[in-house]
Amino acid sequence: MEEEQKKQILKTYFGYDTFRPGQEEIIDQILSGRDVLAVMPTGAGKSLCYQIPALLMPGTAVIVSPLISLMMDQVKALNEAGVHAAYINSSLTESQTARALELAKAGRYKLIYVAPERLETPRFLDFACHAHLSMITVDEAHCISQWGQDFRPSYVRISSFIRQLPVRPVVSAFTATATEKVREDILSSLGLVRPYETVTGFDRPNLYFEVQKGGSKKERIRRYLAEHSSQSGIVYCATRKGVDELYLYLENAGFSVSRYHAGMSPEARKASQEDFIYDRGRVIIATNAFGMGIDKSNVRFVLHYNMPQSMEHYYQEAGRAGRDGEPAECILFYSPQDTMIGRLLLESKEVDQDYTEEERRMIREQDMERLRKMEGYCTTTGCLRSYILRYFGEQAEDGCGSCGNCLAEMEQMDALEAAADVVRCVRDCGQRFGQSMIAGTLLGENTARIRDRGMDKSPSYGKQSKLGKARMQDVIRAMVERGYLRQTKDKYMLLKLTERSEELLEEGAESFIISYKKEEKAEEGKGKSRKAGASGRWPAQAADLTESQQELFEEMRKLRMRLAGKRKIPPYMVASDKTLRDLCVRMPRTREELLDVNGMGEKKVKQYGEAFLELILTKGV
Ligand code: ADP
Ligand code: ZN
Repeated sequence: MEEEQKKQILKTYFGYDTFRPGQEEIIDQILSGRDVLAVMPTGAGKSLCYQIPALLMPGTAVIVSPLISLMMDQVKALNEAGVHAAYINSSLTESQTARALELAKAGRYKLIYVAPERLETPRFLDFACHAHLSMITVDEAHCISQWGQDFRPSYVRISSFIRQLPVRPVVSAFTATATEKVREDILSSLGLVRPYETVTGFDRPNLYFEVQKGGSKKERIRRYLAEHSSQSGIVYCATRKGVDELYLYLENAGFSVSRYHAGMSPEARKASQEDFIYDRGRVIIATNAFGMGIDKSNVRFVLHYNMPQSMEHYYQEAGRAGRDGEPAECILFYSPQDTMIGRLLLESKEVDQDYTEEERRMIREQDMERLRKMEGYCTTTGCLRSYILRYFGEQAEDGCGSCGNCLAEMEQMDALEAAADVVRCVRDCGQRFGQSMIAGTLLGENTARIRDRGMDKSPSYGKQSKLGKARMQDVIRAMVERGYLRQTKDKYMLLKLTERSEELLEEGAESFIISYKKEEKAEEGKGKSRKAGASGRWPAQAADLTESQQELFEEMRKLRMRLAGKRKIPPYMVASDKTLRDLCVRMPRTREELLDVNGMGEKKVKQYGEAFLELILTKGV
């Protein structure tokens, strides 16, 4: 019975036929009355895991959520789907709050979203103690931990709120942060009872991952945008200055882009964000301040102009692509300089003065370790997807066969001579320089930096000029990875010899094999870039639509825009790209057929069905 009900709710309210990995188990556990701690990445579908139990259990579920925009979004979407839900936060006036809580007390809502600061207000407590609560859900539960990125003191008070309830309902906690320490904090601070713990959904099969190195990043991004001219996407930069520069560059190159960072006025930020959400602006250039709580499902690419500070950051940001399950691309443009920027940013990061010296040291070390793991992602030649999954604690096969590294043709070369020259160069300069100076010297670069340090007089100068910059970097990286060199851990990252370095100079040394991506070499000079779908190994956007379907798709998008405009909601709330495509493929003629379309629930059919059917009748072929 319950089995049927779950599926039915999934279809009726959300329009989906099947659960994603992990969702059903979590729902079952909650329904059986067991506390849950679920670690799921952004976009994996956490909300359904508590929304469906909330709909199935008698009473009202309280959802604690840190972000006003996120709450409003969710409540709007639920109301759209025909579910009674409300939120309580600082955006409401006194009287609106009073009214909402009155209704809540009378059992009007299946879900009530609340900001953590509001939990212990007399009014909310009055509601909570008199209503029938089905569940307490803590969203973004990592905010409870001081070791997390987004600690919020008000989260610590949640457990005190729960203790004040006459009956303790089942408690479920959700987060995308995976570290052990944070998980422990959530368990203890919330006082979860024998919880069902799960790490799930980190794999996003529809996302394509790639790291690109070398070349002008600006130029690469410009080309990418040109090649994906009808798609919506985000370009993340590490700094505000980076955002401004790239924004100007792209604007000068004739692109219509918007930007977002914390240095802009609140009005300007709001305008940028809305342009993006409402599909008026196609591409947004932003710092990591952008995106929290933005559930735009048709983001087709997320590019990173710089390496982020941690895999958590990266996956959260990249994960904003392809929430509709359609193919989307996550490409990180890496240069070794990013590691330097990352270290500088960490060093200038202010650590709360409330911490003891020892705690601050630990926080720094953890930050540094996260940065190193991030760097590992950028430089690995192994499967990117399995790197991610392992990082977050999920099982992973060795090669996914569909990421940039798995698809790249690897080439190998014996770089023994180059490696030996690196050892000599490092030794001769007294181990005083970092990788760019050493590489520059061996390549024979004629720059002021090299001349100023007298490195153009070094016996190593120009000895590997034929190797090329990218390979030179590969050699040095491989030497560090294998312990033939080490890099100092300060921001200078000087190259130092190790006890193994000399081995490369010995008579008996035979080879030093490095592998690298074949296409990178071709790309360097010519500026050619991988074309999605061209190889047939990765489905290109809408590649499986015929030309006439594609035309219909464009009409559908326009219709969606109009429908959204009328109701003043973002287009993705009317229908996702995936739904539109399914409409174009299936071409339903009746309301029943409409219900078979992916993402079309009863409420959606009621609201928009006619408009879509009409379009199909008039434009469809
Ligand atoms: P999270 O809160 O984990 O970041 P959401 O709950 O917002 O993610 O879900 C991300 C997207 O995935 C939403 O558009 C949601 O409707 C969709 N989704 C969730 N579960 C399913 C499912 N079983 N089938 C198809 N789409 C789903
Ligand atoms: Zn792979």
